[in-house]
Amino acid sequence: MTPRERFMRKVVVEVGEHWRWLGKAKNGRGWFRFGPGPHERREADRAAWMLFRGDVLPGHVVRYCSTPGCVNPWHARLQRTDEFVREFRPPVVRGEGAPTAKLDSKTVRRIVRLWNSGWTGKQIRGRIGGGVTVQAIQMIVSGRTWRHLDLNVSRPRRVRKWRVTRQVLTDLEVLVARHMRASGYSVREAWRRCGTKACEGATAQAIYGRTFRHLPLPAYPRAA
Ligand SMILES: [Zn+2]
Repeated sequence: MTPRERFMRKVVVEVGEHWRWLGKAKNGRGWFRFGPGPHERREADRAAWMLFRGDVLPGHVVRYCSTPGCVNPWHARLQRTDEFVREFRPPVVRGEGAPTAKLDSKTVRRIVRLWNSGWTGKQIRGRIGGGVTVQAIQMIVSGRTWRHLDLNVSRPRRVRKWRVTRQVLTDLEVLVARHMRASGYSVREAWRRCGTKACEGATAQAIYGRTFRHLPLPAYPRAA
């Protein structure tokens, strides 16, 4: 049996010519094996493109039609990774203009001062009041929100080891992370922006090509 025939045996063609994947799936994603080796497995939608349409050009991702789970390669097109990233990471409304903001920049600076002097998130929440959550405080001191204020956070946020769960990186997340890194973001920023639930260490390994060797590895600028 050719790989194309093997692939088609795991597909059901539905109304609208959408191909529904019936084969192996993990974390909600379908997987197709080209061979027995550890790196010969591809996401089913990507595999469909490779089997029927050709190579995935470097710096591109395969975008499918909006029907969830459709792997019909003629419902797909290649899109530049940077365009894809822009589309999925719209500019964030920051600070006081954001619809959920309960804080103002003065309070945010105060939170950072308390944090720098050793207060915990809970203690700061008690002092600030006004419905601010510990999570919102952590978002500030880890630089995820209000970063346009140039806050000088001098104390690192403690990472709770027990909350770190093992999550699998996807090809797409690795492509996005590598692309972010290649466009000048630090590994940490690339990790935060690539949308993965995997840990930073695993993402760094993937960014530098120690894992995910089947994906293109761009040239990186020097670490910031
Ligand atoms: Zn489709």
